[in-house]
Amino acid sequence: VVGVRQDGSTFPIELAVGEMRSGRRRFFTGFIRDITEPQATERRLQDLQSELIHVSRLTSMGEMASALAHELNQPLSAIASYMKGSVRLLDSETPDLERVRSALTAAGEQALRAGEIIRRLRAFVGKGEAAMRIEALPKLIEEAGALAMMGARDSGVRLDFNLSPKLGPVLADKVQIQQVVLNLMRNAVEAMSEAPVRNLTVEANPIDGETVEVLISDTGPGLAPEVLERLFQPFVTTKAEGMGVGLSICRTIIEAHGGELTARNRTEGGAVFRFTLRRGDLPLSDEIDA
Ligand code: ADP
Repeated sequence: VVGVRQDGSTFPIELAVGEMRSGRRRFFTGFIRDITEPQATERRLQDLQSELIHVSRLTSMGEMASALAHELNQPLSAIASYMKGSVRLLDSETPDLERVRSALTAAGEQALRAGEIIRRLRAFVGKGEAAMRIEALPKLIEEAGALAMMGARDSGVRLDFNLSPKLGPVLADKVQIQQVVLNLMRNAVEAMSEAPVRNLTVEANPIDGETVEVLISDTGPGLAPEVLERLFQPFVTTKAEGMGVGLSICRTIIEAHGGELTARNRTEGGAVFRFTLRRGDLPLSDEIDA
């Protein structure tokens, strides 16, 4: 409950009330504790955690900067050539206006494509308040997948989505879950850099009435035994340039969503990461209780 000081300012208090009977009289005892300090500490911790999650998102974008630049360069150079082509067509004695029209239409489409890449990036690097919403999982996964695959197709990675049509919406902070999907997919792509077969599969299924699972599997060398037990601890890495914080942040995010994140090696080789999320078309249990 909220307490009011003499000067009119309010502060959070924890109030516990006990009842006692003595003869025919009832007595109540109230224990009042000022919880301003613990609440402020908890809020500071939450702020720090969301700051950390945000910084790690920026870091992964930083690592992907050259792939992103390459991705943006494609529509931009396409636009440049359509424009040059159109000018050349217009310069001729009898310009073929139909061809000019189709070149300009194609240039317009490429500009929209570049805009779409930038829009997605901005949504991803933006700070945005953490917000749990009802989200469509396939769209969320596909968008994150598009970011994760930047530059990866050139390295011969084949991506398969296997998203069950029975997937309902989930309850999630979209950008944070995309951050998890992106991290797991980038790890998989990196792990497969030397592998003879490079297949990345992202699968999502409902597992019961309340939960959905997402599986990200690769055909890389799998998880090293010395890493496996400590995989989700911070600063565990086998990469020369690695920080080893990606997976620990992924687990923090998934647990804050009420799900779990686990990893195992596949018998046929490669690693599988699996996380769960709550379905979004159910009433929250607190609401039921209330
Ligand atoms: P980083 O990528 O900076 O090393 P992570 O926490 O994301 O940090 O990953 C920790 C370690 O887990 C990696 O260094 C790697 O050894 C291992 N790992 C993660 N994903 C895979 C994967 N798909 N296949 C094999 N090893 C993996």
